[in-house]
Amino acid sequence: MVEITIAVDGPGSSGKGTVARGVAEALGYQFVDTGAMYRAVGLLSLRSGLDVRDEGATSLLAQRLQFRFAFDGGRLRVEVDGEDVTSAIRGEDVGAAASAVAVHPAVRGALLGLQRYLGAAGGVVMDGRDIGTVVLPDAELKIFLDASLEERARRRWLEHPERDFVAVRDELAARDLQDTTRAVAPLRCAADAVRLDSTGVPVSDVVDRIVQLARSRRGG
Ligand code: C5P
Repeated sequence: MVEITIAVDGPGSSGKGTVARGVAEALGYQFVDTGAMYRAVGLLSLRSGLDVRDEGATSLLAQRLQFRFAFDGGRLRVEVDGEDVTSAIRGEDVGAAASAVAVHPAVRGALLGLQRYLGAAGGVVMDGRDIGTVVLPDAELKIFLDASLEERARRRWLEHPERDFVAVRDELAARDLQDTTRAVAPLRCAADAVRLDSTGVPVSDVVDRIVQLARSRRGG
């Protein structure tokens, strides 16, 4: 049996990360969260006082970062230059910085090699925005996971209930706009991707559907 490569793309809070992790667990595959890489570049840019609009400076930073992904009791731990940044990269300000540095072709180029390397051997579920279109165009299974803006905003707000719901929703809409309209590797559904809408659908059902598709593509 050949172990395949699965690309999972979609907008923020569509459930990609949770679903991709669930699929990886069910199939015994590796899970690669490319958003975490952009978030790490965003975090370190903020910390170093770099202007996130500065392509030269942020891409130099992206080139020299050493990433390490480890599994810790089912949780993905992200280390950058030996520091555990798993929690630090989840902040809303870091998400915005990630989205800002992600518009730069040189930043994307700096991370592309590592992403392709991690996907090359198969047996991988990789989630992001441009995995099926740019990073792994030959992936055997491509999923585009979507959900309504209201539902995605509700999911994000549940993670930060102390915040104002409308502000959370507006930020998400702004992030969507930035991700879908940037010139390089914008978020879009690959022509050969299976489009799934997770609005009102339990995570386990979405995972089961993708696992089924994966089993049929790898032949068992
Ligand atoms: O998926 P996540 O919300 O963690 O990603 C953070 C940001 O990184 C996204 O808003 C997007 O701008 C960027 N990103 C990207 N390409 C990817 C993964 C993430 O541009 N493959």
